[in-house]
Order: sequence, then C-alpha cells, then structure tokens
Amino acid sequence: MELPKQYDPAASEEKWYPEWEGKGYFTAHPESGKPPYAIVIPPPNVTGVLHTGHAMFVTLQDVLIRWKRMQGYDALWLPGTDHAGIATQMVVSKELEKQGLHRHDLGRDEFIERVWEWRREKGDTILQQLRRLGASCDWTRTRFTLDPDLSKAVRKAFVDLYREGLIYRGHYMINWCPKCGTALSDLEVEHADTRGNLWHIRYPLQGGADGEGVVVATTRPETMLGDTAVAVHPEDERYKALIGKHVILPILKRPIPVIADTMVDREFGTGAVKITPAHDPNDFEAGKRHKLPEIQVIGLDGSMTANAGPYEGQDRFAARKAIVKRLEAEGLLVKVDPHQHAVGHCQRCDAVVEPAVSNQWFLKIEPLAKPAREVVERGEVRIIPEHWQKVYLNWMSEIHDWCISRQIWWGHRIPAFYCDACGKGAGTLDPEQKLVSMQDLSECPYCGGPVFQDPDVLDTWFSSQLWPFSTMGWPEKTADLEHYYPSAVLETGYDILFFWVARMIMAGLKFTGKAPFRDVFLHGLVRDAKGRKMSKTLGNVIDPLELIDEHGADAVRFTLAMLTVPGTDVALDPKRMEGYRAFANKLWNAGRFVLMQVGEEVPARPADGDLGYWDRWILEEYADTVRRVNASLEAYKFYEASDALYHFVWHRFCDWYVEVSKVGLAKEAPSERQAATRWVLAQVLDGLLRLLHPFMPFVTEEIWQRVPGNSGTIMLAPYPVPGEATATVREEDIEALMDLVNRIRNLRAEKGIAPGLPMEVVIVSKDRGALDILKDHSLREVVVLARLASLDVGESLPEGDHWVPGISSRYQFAARAPEAARDPAAERARLEAELKKARAERDKFAAKLQSPSFAEKAPMEVVEKTRRLLAEFEHKVSELGASLARLEP
Ligand SMILES: [Zn+2]
Ligand SMILES: [Zn+2]
Repeated sequence: MELPKQYDPAASEEKWYPEWEGKGYFTAHPESGKPPYAIVIPPPNVTGVLHTGHAMFVTLQDVLIRWKRMQGYDALWLPGTDHAGIATQMVVSKELEKQGLHRHDLGRDEFIERVWEWRREKGDTILQQLRRLGASCDWTRTRFTLDPDLSKAVRKAFVDLYREGLIYRGHYMINWCPKCGTALSDLEVEHADTRGNLWHIRYPLQGGADGEGVVVATTRPETMLGDTAVAVHPEDERYKALIGKHVILPILKRPIPVIADTMVDREFGTGAVKITPAHDPNDFEAGKRHKLPEIQVIGLDGSMTANAGPYEGQDRFAARKAIVKRLEAEGLLVKVDPHQHAVGHCQRCDAVVEPAVSNQWFLKIEPLAKPAREVVERGEVRIIPEHWQKVYLNWMSEIHDWCISRQIWWGHRIPAFYCDACGKGAGTLDPEQKLVSMQDLSECPYCGGPVFQDPDVLDTWFSSQLWPFSTMGWPEKTADLEHYYPSAVLETGYDILFFWVARMIMAGLKFTGKAPFRDVFLHGLVRDAKGRKMSKTLGNVIDPLELIDEHGADAVRFTLAMLTVPGTDVALDPKRMEGYRAFANKLWNAGRFVLMQVGEEVPARPADGDLGYWDRWILEEYADTVRRVNASLEAYKFYEASDALYHFVWHRFCDWYVEVSKVGLAKEAPSERQAATRWVLAQVLDGLLRLLHPFMPFVTEEIWQRVPGNSGTIMLAPYPVPGEATATVREEDIEALMDLVNRIRNLRAEKGIAPGLPMEVVIVSKDRGALDILKDHSLREVVVLARLASLDVGESLPEGDHWVPGISSRYQFAARAPEAARDPAAERARLEAELKKARAERDKFAAKLQSPSFAEKAPMEVVEKTRRLLAEFEHKVSELGASLARLEP
C-alpha cells in the first residue's frame, strides 16, 4: 500500500487512462435513472494538432464533467471532430502538390476519396492528443460531422429551411478568396489595418474643355476599369451642374454617367466617387438602385478579365501598378495621399479577399436571430462572463444573411438539382420545390429529363450549428436526444461566439424548439507569457504535449484552471507549471506521510471529545473548502475553486496540520488521541483527493487507491458535499498561533541556529484569552512546530543570559539557543560579517541617490525603489549594531 518516494506523472498517466476508459467509466447511460449532465465538445478540426486552446477547453470541460459525475449525475461529455471543409481540402491539396498533382487532375470523386484516405490515416490524431490531458470523453459516442447520420441531419436542415423559404439562391455580392477559389462568409474574413494610398484620378467631362470633369478618390484603382458611373451627393453644390452629364472613363475611354446618390459622403476624398457595381458591396447596391450594368474586370482567380482591355490576364496587384503608371503618364493622376484602411484577408490562406458578384446560396437570418436574441434577453440562455451577453445581442441585431455555399469539394454537397431540358432548377425556378430533396434525384420531377446536382458544398459551420443535437441522433427521436438535450453548458473560447455559439442557438431553437444549452461559458484566449498571441512567425507557440511531458498532465491542467479568471485572456508562463508540479509533489508527500501513519486499517470515527483543537480546526477548514470549491464551480469560477484547493492543501493541510498531527500520533499520547488523529488524517486526505480529482485526475487516483477502505475508482467516488457549518475554532486564534510559530522560526533563522538544535522559549501575553488557548490547546503543538526544547508560559520575559526577545501579533516571547550553539566568538564574527555586508549595500544605494545623473534620468519608480532599499539597509545596519552591543564580551 505504501506510495513510492517520488511521484511519476508519466507512469501514472499511462496506467490510469486506459484503465478508466477500458472499464467504461467515461460512458454515459441514459437508462441509469440518474439526472443528466451533458457537455458537447467544440469539435476540433480533423486537421487539428493539439494547441493550448484545446488544452484549455479540455481542462475546463473535464473539470465540470468529472465534478458532476462524482456528484452522481449521468455525465456525458460527447466528443467528435469537424470535417473543416476549406482547411482539410487545403491540407490534402498540399500533399498532392508534393506529388505534382492538382485536385482538378484527379477530379471530384477521386479527390474526395483521397481526403477520406487521409482522414482514415491522420484524422484521429487530435482525439488521441485530447486523451493525453485526461479528457473523460465518452469515446463510444464519438461523432464526425460527415458521418452518415450527421450528414442526414444536415440535409434535413437544408431541405426544411429551403421549403420554408429561409434558404434562397441569388446573385449577390459576397466575399471571394481567389486563392481558395470559394465564397466566404463575413466571419471568415479577417480585417487588417493596412497602409495604402488614396489615388485621386481625373475623369474628363465628355465634350468638355481641357480640365473640365470630376476627380474621384479610390483605394483600388484597378477596379476603375469596371466603373459604370460616378456618384455625387445630390446637394453638393460643387457638382450640381454635372449631374446627368457623362464623364469619360480613362484608359478605356468609356462614357459613364454622373449620378446623384445620398450614400455619397461629401467629406470623404473629393466628394465624388466612382461606382463599380461588380467589385464593391456599396456600389453593388447603388448599381441596383440606378440600374447600372455590372462589369466584372477581376476574375475569380484574381487576374484581370477580358473586360479589363489591355490588362487582361494580369494579376490584380500588377494591374494596379500598371494602371497608376499610365494615369500618371496621361496626366490624369491628380494626387496620391497615404491612406490607412482595413483590408479583408481570407481566414484560411491570408489572401486578400475580393468582393465579387456571383450566384450563391444564402440563409435568411433575421427570422432565426429574433428568437435567439429573446432567449438570451429572457435569461433562458446565460452567457458568462456577462459582458459577452451585450456583445452577442448587438451582433445579433446587425447580422446579415449568411452565404452558406462554398466552391470546394470537401463537405456536405448542396442537395439541389437542376434540369437543362425544361430549364427548372432549385433556387431559380422550382415552383413546387421538388428540386431540393432528401433523396438524390436522377430525373427531373417536372419533365423527366436528366438532372445535375449543384456542385457547391455547404459552409463547414452549417453542419457545426447542428452539432449539439445532430450528434445525439436528430432528426430521429433517440434516447440520447431525449435524455441529454439540451446540454448543461457550452464551454468554448470567446473567439467563436459568432461563428458557432450564436448559430447553434439559432439552429437549436429552429429545429428542436429549444435552446441547445442552458449556459454558455466563454474562456479567455491563451497567449504567451507576455500576453502576445501565439504565432509561428513570433516563434512563441507553446506545445501542450511538451508541457505534459515535462510537468505532467495534472500540472498543466491545474495551471490552466488557475489562470481562468473571468473576462481576461490567459498569459501562459510555462514557469508557472513548475509551481504546480511542485504542488502535485507536495500532495504526494503528504499522502505518503498520512498513509504510513494510518496503516492498513480503516480508522474508526472517534468520539467528538477525542478530537483536539487542531483536529477540529482542520476539519472546519476542510468543510469550508468544500463549500468554496462547489460554489465556485457552480459559478464557473475556475480560478477561485483551484485557488481554494491550492491554499487548503498546501498552506493548511501540508504546512500545518501534517506537522501538528505528530503531537497526536506521538507514542506518549493517549491511544484514543492517536486513533482520532489517524482518523482525521485519513478523512481529510480522502476528502481533499476527491475535491481535487476533477482538476488533477491522475495524482489523486494514484494516492486515493491506497487509502484504506477505498475500492473502485476515485472517478466515481462521491464529490464532497458542504455540510452544516460549524466553527468551534476561531480563524484569528489559529492565525495568532501560526504567527507566533513563524516569528520563533524567523528568529531561529536570523540567529543562524540550525533547525536540528531545539531552542528554549518563554511566552507571555497581556491577552488572557490568547494565553488560555495556548495553554489549553497548543503547547505541545508549538513545541513541535517550532522545534523547541522547552516552552514555558510565564508572567514576565527573562532577560540577559543569552535570551533574545521577540514579538508576534498576540504574544511576546524570549528565546535562546541551546547551550551547544552559544559561542559568542562565532556569533560576533557572524554579526560582524553581516554588518559589513549591510553597510556596503547601504553605501551603494546612498551613492546612487546622490549622483545627479541618477536623480535626473531614472524613472520615478526606480528612484522610489532605491530610496526604500536605502532605508531598509540603514535599518539593518542599526539592528545589527544593537545585536553586537548586546553580545557579551
Ligand atoms: Zn483563402
Ligand atoms: Zn426538367
């Protein structure tokens, strides 16, 4: 039963994880009759490699799941992966490129087969890595967004929304990534502030004199080739005369009208703007209002089209340079102002996103957003930390229709069909809505002709929004769906509040009539020790697997829980992990001590009267910790829960009670007292292991297994419940005793008396109560804690004869070293050496402060600090001087 001397995290992790999983402890049982508690995992991409963000969500969700499982809930943590359309297609395309192949060389079916192959080989790596952290997921329920059942759910959702008119196909402006070759949703575009130019270009008046015309300002001169108008504000006096006339588009020499539109900002640039309906979202709208033609000059591959005349075939950025050069040569470039503006980049490949007009599928959002706002406003869904609630509501009231089609191959293909024979097609002309269907169509339901399927696939997030219920079997009415849905909490990083959380709430309400979860807890993003975002370019990426190898999974988890302070990002300093690895070792050593004392027998519960003062104190401290940990977890205050545990285990149990217990365990103590002490040690150890288990699953299981009377697994042992609050020991009384012990220990250190040499101490106090507590309950304890040869409570302090006075919060004392340590010559030599050092330090700081350059140039706080140090050393010098004077000759 004895614990090995050292805790070996790796051995423990390798032993317990397969044991837990193999015995089915992670598996949920809807038929168990227990109340359900479910969390559905944020599915990592199949292409994923474990990063600190995963480590964060695994830690927090596993803490909640293990806590609730121990509380007797039927806890389900449902895992799985996301097919991650664009991301995965990119990974496999890159592999093919190494073999000199493009996906078009293979064709659609062959390419998709290759992706499946890749997934079979690599796709579960990320799930294996989650296991390393101790994730107690129910792997028997692992799902993948492209599983047949989940694909059926996606198709059902699409068909239903289409039939209701909420999904439509249309010719609109969308975000286009020329590199990925697909449409993107607004959320998939990342805006970066970029230094560019505002080019002022003269468009001459048709039939006008030299110099007549308008000057327009643009950040994208290459799009001018697609201009079909120039717009001015109708009330702008500068341009009133021009409205209705035509100007000549430079280079292409096309006449275009000057139109009036209130959208024009008179203050911006020259107050006249070029209108390019095919390449700008605002111009697209203006083009519709004024019935302007759309001329596409930038192709979907990012190069200029035939409409661009002489620039046909050039890359869009090369064309920009060439056009500016030519305008300059023709004297039409009026001026160039540097200009800071936001440029959209593809979230996946970082290419500059191009606004483009094309035929895409859209989901009407407002009818879905309204109920999703209401459940949050009514408090049926709680978003924590609370300030995210406001962010959510704002965003949900400004949300646009969602472009859901993607021009890629990997994903859920849109179940829409078209017929060339009769010209009917889903989205354009499908009078009886027969061309979008749960079954694949082989012939046209209208004319019997051959049909073809829409080549596009759905945005990955379309399937992710169904994840909370598609994973449980929806649209079938399964036992899982019945029992676990809605889940208890959705826990994730705040960065996907809109991508995922908001869309799940909308979809859940739409398809199941219920919000998919009660609570949303958003954790902060994990950054480096300096608070910077981790990135390959900065070279500051922290690999959680390396941290686990170095410090153990428990230390990694505990660190992340400790850093989860609501509303803040997490600055992860791997050095902190050393501290929590030491915490695991501290716990291990305490466990070793307790188990050796307790032996093999289960200690019997003692009579209340046999419990000593410090026994009652640790039991009360423990009960208080139980209350605090449970309450903090209820409120998702992971930091408070882990901090309470750390404080109790280290600064109460290990530092004090384990030491004090030596009094009760001593041979000369009465046997009832010995038995009571063993019971308290075993009781508190067992309880704190269970309390700590959700945070540090491995080390707690390893120790708990050896506590007499335990069998099975700590995973299923009951989580400590707060009992009746009793407080027979006052915190301030204990604090005063601890302070006394610390002062005596400090004095020992100051005098350089080895810990092995017991000192003599006499204590007095004007506080009768404090003296009584000391006399009644703690004489032996103070002797043991401070390692004393003798302790007397007297009326007055002895003086001279080597006695050194000391003072604590409630007590005064005098201590002296054992005779063997009283060597005045050695003591004098030691004090003199220290005095010399202190004087040198004092002089150094004094000189620094007197130097004029220091006073002038050093920052205020440095000067302040130096002053403080000077005062400190002045004090030390005088103290040491006094000690020397007291020393007998
Ligand atoms: Zn891209
Ligand atoms: Zn037809």
